[in-house]
Amino acid sequence: MNAGQTNFAADYQAAFVDYLNGGDEETALQRAYELGRRAIAGEQTILGLIGIHYQLVQTIKPKLKADLPKRQTIVRSEAFLTQVMALFEMTHRQTLDLNRSLRDSERRKAAILGSAFDGIVTFDVDGRIIEFNPAAERMFGYQRTQVIGQDLVELILPAARRDAFRRLLAACRSKGHGEAAGQREEMTVLRADAGEFPVELAVTLIEADAFPFFAAFVRDLSERKAYEAKIEYLATHDGLTDLANRNLLKDRLEQAIAHLGRDKDMVLAVLFVGIERFKFINDSMGHSFGDALIREIAARLQQIVRDGDTVARHGSDEFVIVLDGLRSGVQETLHGASKVLTAFMQPFVVQGHSIHQACSIGASLYPGDGRDAETLLAHADAAMHRAKAAGGGSLQFYTQDLGTFAAERLRLENALWSGLENGEFSLYYQPQIRLADGAIVGAEALIRWRHPEFGMVHPERFIALAEETGLIGPIGEWVLRTANAQNRAWRQAGLPPLRMAVNVSTRQFRDGAILRALKDMLAADEVAPGSLEIEVTESSMMENMEESVRLLNQLRALGASISLDDFGTGYSSLSYLRRLPVDRLKIDQSFVHNMEGDTQKRTMIKEIIHLALAFDLSIIAEGVETRGELDFLAEQGCHEYQGYLFSRPVVAGDFEGLLRGG
Ligand code: C2E
Ligand code: MG
Ligand code: MG
Repeated sequence: MNAGQTNFAADYQAAFVDYLNGGDEETALQRAYELGRRAIAGEQTILGLIGIHYQLVQTIKPKLKADLPKRQTIVRSEAFLTQVMALFEMTHRQTLDLNRSLRDSERRKAAILGSAFDGIVTFDVDGRIIEFNPAAERMFGYQRTQVIGQDLVELILPAARRDAFRRLLAACRSKGHGEAAGQREEMTVLRADAGEFPVELAVTLIEADAFPFFAAFVRDLSERKAYEAKIEYLATHDGLTDLANRNLLKDRLEQAIAHLGRDKDMVLAVLFVGIERFKFINDSMGHSFGDALIREIAARLQQIVRDGDTVARHGSDEFVIVLDGLRSGVQETLHGASKVLTAFMQPFVVQGHSIHQACSIGASLYPGDGRDAETLLAHADAAMHRAKAAGGGSLQFYTQDLGTFAAERLRLENALWSGLENGEFSLYYQPQIRLADGAIVGAEALIRWRHPEFGMVHPERFIALAEETGLIGPIGEWVLRTANAQNRAWRQAGLPPLRMAVNVSTRQFRDGAILRALKDMLAADEVAPGSLEIEVTESSMMENMEESVRLLNQLRALGASISLDDFGTGYSSLSYLRRLPVDRLKIDQSFVHNMEGDTQKRTMIKEIIHLALAFDLSIIAEGVETRGELDFLAEQGCHEYQGYLFSRPVVAGDFEGLLRGG
């Protein structure tokens, strides 16, 4: 018996004797059981314990016989013995159960390893593989039996990563168990076929017994990486054309600028390419046609740039090309832009239609026109708009005055807001004359803006701005009410009835504001029948034909007549003229101007007049400045005219003078 056993035997004997001497049974049992348990947890086996117990009973028995009535002693000791044994048996059974559950857990562990989604590889401290689960087999393309005992580092890591990984393992060992657990790293590993794939790898040192080992948990990231790449692609590319989108464009431009920063001999050009009248095509041919055209344009642009140059889609009908690493800015930009313009000379074939499509290009150069992506883009955009304004189909370089232009625009925009409140707007009236008898049958109301600082601002300069800012709503309503009130005043003063023509811009027309205002005025009984004409432009009708027809019909139902302003400048065609509910065509002044020396213009005027007559429409010519022009118009059967020949637009008082025959 060793020391622990002796100790136990003595303690146990004491407990037993106490009991036999009449001690409390419960306490004695508890004590004996506790001692037994500790003995088992120490070095005693359960059988050894039972042996001690019997030994004890045998040695004590003779002594007991002397002291106590035999029967009682035997009964008590046997009862105690039975109970203690029952307790130990229970403990023993629990131990057995524990062992069984440990075995079960081994089996479960194996099952977990087998079915785990992650690859689990255990390996000894020298890196030799101990276990290689089925997921690892699938991931790496090896059979478990092939790799057991092999060096994991050599097997799955690219040569360049091996030393770093070995250092990681060493660090893991020095930190010890637990500390290193959960250290995750993304890395690229090798498959059996030498292909590489991305994984997330966590290595843990396990020191359960005398032989510590490593467990590596490997998660295949191929799918996640592919998914991430896809998301990244979607976030940086245009869905329709697969070109870089605005975000990527800015990134690339910034990168290119950063790259150039060091090289003083290099420049960079930003070409802003705007597609002419795309909205019109989109609306008239349908969106799928518009989309297909944009794709064709994108493909063609991509064909003409050099590798490495970025082509991006900036807006629905705007593209940006970044020409990088140029030696001579202007020369090479001109060359690049001319390639784009040439590319647009060939028709685009879309859904069986052959379409001639023009574009306008604005260019800005780094570093001269801006030192960051945003400025360069804004300046190229401004230049593109100037190219558009100049008629399209051309290139404009950014110039400083475009910047001043933008600043002035901003000032004008602010002034416009206060203009209406401060009563800075007024109306001028231009007479419309009937050719048959020379009578003034109508007036066109034309807005004027006298700004205290800028002086007289012409409608061409602020109407478009008012449209963009939404101010056209209140301004347009003011024009309508003022012109109508003036007409009423003249009528009440006993002057001959007059048709008052009011210009309505695209936005005013389309958002229905003009309709609401007119209804209001009619409800208040302010408009005399046949006294109001609405002038709309061809181009504003074209953008949404169905809606335009509906609105025009509503205006006519309210008693207004409709005049089609600037006729001939848009896409006038018989087919749409037939559908539009209009009363009058207004021949644009560009045809009238200088028509005497221009056969083409005269032919055009002739055709427009014949067209109008064929459709039973009234026809008026504007911008008539000479007697010769008037004679020609009369010859062709034109009904009415307006122009400087008779009178410029004049203030109300002067117009009244004209009406009175002054
Ligand atoms: P528009 O409706 O085509 O008006 C005709 C323009 O031609 C007017 O310019 C008029 O002054 C000018 N004009 C008239 N006769 C002659 C002529 O014999 N020779 C020449 N060279 N020009 C002549 P204005 O008043 O500067 O208006 C320009 C444009 O601004 C108008 O073109 C119209 O589109 C717009 N506009 C004018 N007033 C308003 C308005 O109250 N509301 C809206 N929405 N637009 C307006
Ligand atoms: Mg007009
Ligand atoms: Mg006009």
